[in-house]
This record gives sequence, structure tokens and C-alpha cells, in this order.
Amino acid sequence: MTADKVAGMARIAVIGAGMGAMAAAARLAVAGHRVAVYERTATYGGAVRRFERDGFSFDTGPGLLSLPAVHRDLFVKTGKEPLEACVELVQVDPSSHHVFADGTRVSLPNASRAGAVSALDEALGAGTGQRWGDFLVRARETWDRTRRPLLEEPLWPNWSVLAEREPYPSVPHKRLLRTRRAGTLAEVGAWELRDPRLTALLESHALAYGLDPRVTPASAAVLPYMEHAFGVWYVRGGVRELARAVYERCVARRVEFVFGAEVARVLEKDGRAAGVELADGTVAEADFVVTGVAPGAVSTGTAAPGAGEVPPQRGLPSRLTVLLALRGGRPEGAAHRTVVHAADREGELESLFGEHPGLPGHPTVTVLRPDDTGSVPGPGHEAIALTAPVPAQSGQGYDEQAERMITTAERAIPDLRARLLWHEVRTPDDIAEATGAEGGAVPAPALAAADGRLLHPSNSTGVPNLFAVGGWSHPGGGLPHAGMSGALVAGLIVEGPEFRGSQ
Ligand SMILES: Cc1cc2nc3c(=O)[nH]c(=O)nc-3n(C[C@H](O)[C@H](O)[C@H](O)COP(=O)(O)OP(=O)(O)OC[C@H]3O[C@@H](n4cnc5c(N)ncnc54)[C@H](O)[C@@H]3O)c2cc1C
Repeated sequence: MTADKVAGMARIAVIGAGMGAMAAAARLAVAGHRVAVYERTATYGGAVRRFERDGFSFDTGPGLLSLPAVHRDLFVKTGKEPLEACVELVQVDPSSHHVFADGTRVSLPNASRAGAVSALDEALGAGTGQRWGDFLVRARETWDRTRRPLLEEPLWPNWSVLAEREPYPSVPHKRLLRTRRAGTLAEVGAWELRDPRLTALLESHALAYGLDPRVTPASAAVLPYMEHAFGVWYVRGGVRELARAVYERCVARRVEFVFGAEVARVLEKDGRAAGVELADGTVAEADFVVTGVAPGAVSTGTAAPGAGEVPPQRGLPSRLTVLLALRGGRPEGAAHRTVVHAADREGELESLFGEHPGLPGHPTVTVLRPDDTGSVPGPGHEAIALTAPVPAQSGQGYDEQAERMITTAERAIPDLRARLLWHEVRTPDDIAEATGAEGGAVPAPALAAADGRLLHPSNSTGVPNLFAVGGWSHPGGGLPHAGMSGALVAGLIVEGPEFRGSQ
């Protein structure tokens, strides 16, 4: 590839129409390249799907958006119409309601530290709010230290610095005769928050991303911080509308989509990526290939990580989602998101992350109740989605687990069963079908420390002109992170290996 060709128009083949891949495609098209997306299913969005029946509609992937700045930037950089002209974003307030194992409840206001402090003091007892508030200050420092390398910049070549150094400024904790510092989220809970409900609140942020708080590094403090600082957002009509808007932006920028096109392998010529071969044998030549799929979904020849590179994340769970069609309207003032915490934390974590993964008897359940007339057939109805992590495998017992989740959700909505018209269970197999990820595994965002276990492979691969985008590459899973991976890959292709981030 000559410098001339890099600067001029290149043919770019993108594998998969997930959110990361589409973000890269739109940006590359705007830079003047000819971009074609090869998607094995009949639609775009990957995990970001919708289920519709009898006038009810539900997101089956993420139901909320954090860090909307990432998608605002995508829309600013790829056209005239800003994000808000293409979708309606609604701040979710309270950002979450929590029902703890002991029956205590608290609603946390959106993006307000003072509001969270007083709500916690009132619900959990004096002093708890201050401890959470102090934690948020330390979480902010962690965010400031990791925002650039773990969200806005390509993975550092000396990434081991990120793997080894814990950026969370933990508080020295005297234990017996030794002074120790929290290294895991569970230790932050036990030693700094010192209240089982605050610990559950903290740990639920890790669990929502499929992470075991007992071994998740304290640097995961950025997860609650991101929500706290930048708010939690609903996309009117469902998050699938965001996928539609990104797809339409791609089409407006003349990105070509080929649906029903499963890529079997990446072609190489003279040691460089040179195109893709589809499962039906069709060959599409390209100057660059961008792969937005899970490890193993496409054969990438020599692109497997070599010594000294970050291997893909392993062992992450999937999700079980139960979609509930209810009679009776959504009550005024109902929280959009309620987390009903597990009665048996240890049991739940052992089931999910222990040696013999299985379905927890007492799952932590996230209840989403969008205030959206578009998701129901009429005023006297409500559409609710329940989600809980489950091991990533093709398993059994999901109907029984769905019943347990409904029973758990009744702690937040006592008349739930009496109002139920029907329910639909979405399993890890459905997620695997939508994304191609084995067992329906869902990748987590990149986090520092933990020996690099939670970092992701870099966007540049071992094969020149082959780049990786989306939740399984740097900076990892989740809508904002995958969106950023699109910006990073576009930067690396357009500006070359010297590209150091766009923010
Ligand atoms: C149930 C659920 C809940 C979630 N909750 C949240 C949340 O609360 N917050 C959050 O931020 N994120 C959440 N996520 C994760 C988030 O949806 C993803 O990280 C994000 O959408 C990024 O996706 P991606 O770019 O990696 O593409 P993916 O969604 O993984 O899509 C990959 C695409 O590639 C296609 N593909 C695969 N193999 C091939 C092939 N060989 N040839 C052609 N195409 C192929 C697939 O069909 C698919 O369209 C959730 C995910 C799920 C499933």
C-alpha cells in the first residue's frame, strides 16, 4: 500500500453490521473510501435487536445508553444532522431504583452526587451517602487516569503498564497488623463502603457487564462513575432506533450493505489483508479489511494474537432476557430501571463464575420499564424487560429461570403476575444467533489492572491492513466502547499507525 493509496480512495471490506463495525464504516466512507459491509444475518445492529408481538415491542439487547457523547461525535463527524435530529434521547431519572436483599429501597437521581448522597443517607442510614460520595470522588480519579488509554486512544504498545498498575486510589485499610488497599470491587465494598447494600449497589454495576466483583479490579469503579457523571439515556422507540439511525447514516454516506453474507475467511496477499471470502465461495477484494465479529467467527489466518499481544477476553457470561407483556398501564413515577438484588450473593456469584457454571437460584434481576407509548398497543398496557446474567453456553432450564426472574421482579412490582398477558424468553442461543459469539457471550469494556485479563486485543492486528472493531477488540464491549472502537479503526486507517486518538 503506497502512501498515495492510503490518502486516496481505498476499497474497505467490513465484516459484520454490529454497532462498532457500522461506526467505523460511516467514518471511513466520509473519509472518501468505498466501504462494503458483509453481514451474515438479514439485518444490521448485531446484539441491538427488537422483539415485537401484538403491538408490544422490546429491546432484546441493551435497553439503555451511557456516554451519549460517543454517538454524538459519530453523527457530527459523518454528516449535517446531529444525533438528536435522528433519534430522541431521554435522560432516565432516577437513573436507577434499587431493591436490596433486606427489603431496603433507594432511588438514585440521575447525574447528581448531592442527590445520591442524600437519597442514600435517607434510605440506608446516616453516613452511607457520604461513603458513596467519597467513593465517587475516587472513581472520578480512576476515570481521569484511564479515560484516554481505555476509551479514546488505540491500545498502547506498552499495554502491560495498564495491566499492572491499579489506577483506583484505594483508601489504606488496617487489617490485623497490616495495612492493605482494596484491589477488587468486592474489597472496595467491604473495606471502603462498609455496608452490604452499598456493596450490592457497587457490585451490580460489574454484574450488569457480566463481571465477577470478587476478582474484578477496583478500576471497574469507572462503570458506576460513567453513569453517574454522564447520565443514563433511553432512546425513544428503543435502543434499536440508535442502530437504525447509525445504519441510515452509513447508507446516506454510500456504505454498501450485503446481508445474508457470511464471511468465511479473510484473504491475504503478500502478507497483507486483501479481501474476504464468503461462505458461498464469493470473493470480494479489498485494500483493507475491518472485522467486527467475535473471536473465532471468521478465520483470520495469521491474525491470531501472538506473543506479547493481548488475547481476547474469555469466560464472560451471556444474558437471559424475559420480555413481559402486561395489561394495565405503567404507573406514573415508576422507575425506568430497577435492580432487584440477589438474596444470596455468594450463591449467585458461585453459580455464574464458579468451576461448574449454572443458573443462579436467586439471580440479581434488572427490570426495565420504558415510559414509551410506542412500545405498547395502547394506554392500558405496559412492556417490561427483565435481564440477568447467565453462563455463556447453550443450556437448559431457561423457562424455570425465567419464572425465578419473574418471582424476583415481583419484589419490585407486586402485581406483575396478575397483570401478565404473555412472556417471551430470550436465551444465550438467541444472542449467539444475533452476534455470532460462541455461547452468546457478551464482551465487557476494557478495564485496567487484573494482569490485563480485561483488556482487549488492539485494533491493529498482526496482519497489515486487517483491523478489528467492536466489542471484542479495544476498548471493548458496550455501546459507547464499541462506538469508540469505530472511531479508532477509522483513525488508524485514515491517518495510519501514528494515529493517537481523536478526542
Ligand atoms: C442482552 C444484551 C444486553 C446488553 N446490555 C448492554 C448494556 O446494558 N450496555 C451496553 O453498553 N452494552 C450492552 N450489551 C453489549 C452491546 O450490545 C454490544 O457490546 C455492542 O452492541 C457492540 O456490538 P459489536 O460492535 O461488538 O457487534 P455485535 O453486536 O457483536 O455484532 C456482530 C455482527 O457481526 C455479524 N457476524 C458475525 N460473524 C459474521 C461472519 N462470519 N460474517 C458476517 N457477519 C458476521 C453478526 O451477525 C452481527 O451482526 C448487551 C448485549 C446483549 C446481547
